[in-house]
Amino acid sequence: ILFPVVTIDGPGGAGKGTLCMLLATRLGWHLLDSGAIYRVLAVAAMKQSVELDDIARLTELASNLNVSFPIENNQVLIVLDGVNVTDEIRTEQTGNLASKVAAYPEVRAALLVRQQNFAQSPGLIADGRDMGTVVFPSASLKIFLDASAEERAKRRQLQLQQKGINVNFDNLLQEIQERDFRDRNRPVAPLKPADDAIVIDSTSMSIDAVFNQVLALVNQRI
Ligand code: C5P
Repeated sequence: ILFPVVTIDGPGGAGKGTLCMLLATRLGWHLLDSGAIYRVLAVAAMKQSVELDDIARLTELASNLNVSFPIENNQVLIVLDGVNVTDEIRTEQTGNLASKVAAYPEVRAALLVRQQNFAQSPGLIADGRDMGTVVFPSASLKIFLDASAEERAKRRQLQLQQKGINVNFDNLLQEIQERDFRDRNRPVAPLKPADDAIVIDSTSMSIDAVFNQVLALVNQRI
């Protein structure tokens, strides 16, 4: 590995997104939001009416995915074929569709090099499910950030409320548990800590506490 890579894996809603943004900003490193790529693929499939079980077309779509991540006003935008899809990809529904397309090994293989290309000077923070296990197996530091499903549903509900969206807690919890189950039990690149990952349970930790702990580990190792 030429540049330091720090991988942050874990289930949805554990706080990876915020943690990775804080780390990348503090260190001045690049950021890979790999989940956004799977989400964009799901949105692209919908827009082009590709069935979610048509592996050949999904794989072709993945290989040719025209997605970019421009930064505007300190915010990372997600642009698909010239269209800003930043808000569209964040819905729970898109997350669910993403976890369906992400279960196909052919699709994952088609997106592998694209993700690895994010490792650029001076360093990379990689956010996902298989960053430490598959995409960057020789990363300098691997973190697995976990939290109970209830706590993750609570955080997600609060996040949505702040956007003026009210959702039913039990439905949200069920969606989160279904997506977790699919991600943890798929045969290829299942969600699990790498053997050499440090597991942090953020259930009763503030984001600041998690950030400080991980930053200390980065400074120790790199
Ligand atoms: O992290 P996020 O919720 O945006 O990810 C959406 C979905 O994409 C996950 O539920 C997972 O199925 C898939 N994913 C993946 N591998 C990654 C990142 C995300 O399979 N590295």
